[in-house]
Amino acid sequence: MTDLATPPIAARPALLEQPPVGRYKDRTVLAIGAHPDDLELAVGGTLAKLRMSGARVVMAVVSIPADYEARRKEAEQAAEILGCELRILVDGGTPQRIEDMKTYELVKVLDAAIKDLQPAAVLTHGPSEFHRDHVLVYNAAISTQRLRYFDFFCYHPNFCRPVPVQFHPRAYVDISDTVERKMAAIAAHKSQFGNRGLPIDIYRDIARMNGRMIGVQYAEGLDIGRLLLA
Ligand SMILES: [Zn+2]
Repeated sequence: MTDLATPPIAARPALLEQPPVGRYKDRTVLAIGAHPDDLELAVGGTLAKLRMSGARVVMAVVSIPADYEARRKEAEQAAEILGCELRILVDGGTPQRIEDMKTYELVKVLDAAIKDLQPAAVLTHGPSEFHRDHVLVYNAAISTQRLRYFDFFCYHPNFCRPVPVQFHPRAYVDISDTVERKMAAIAAHKSQFGNRGLPIDIYRDIARMNGRMIGVQYAEGLDIGRLLLA
């Protein structure tokens, strides 16, 4: 059997020597997740790297669906670990479910975030998510593209327990330097993992597999909705 070893890092194209996330230095990146923990699972390493590259990174959580106080605290801890700002977009101080909102209400909430923050890039859920409320957020985020130009990316579908979902990354972020922050941010969501006896090492496994795709130790994959090349 042929040994399909990971190519040495030195074999990477020269283009990757300059981290593409550096394009957002001194600009705002808005990451939108349906619930606390969604962003950490999918792009925790990317968000930490963006912040370290000089971007303002806002982690926008649409709503807290249950256990308001505990989950808000976990989200705050995780955002601090990643060095990012946290915003709860629908926040009446009580649990709120996205499915209870009308489509236009959800679009209005995301529109307000785009108008306020004027992001250079938006990262959010994709269309193949297993959770239906994640797809609702994706659809609402798609609509916000009419307001102004920003790069638009979708991240890996989220799950607490592995489920079969389609996702084919077209862009990768080397998170070898920030994977431990990602794992610590995920672990901060004790109510979702530690307290339920659910392991989190699958997220390291996914990052390792994506890393192998591009010849680095750990990476996160993104699908590209739109991207300005110049
Ligand atoms: Zn979620």
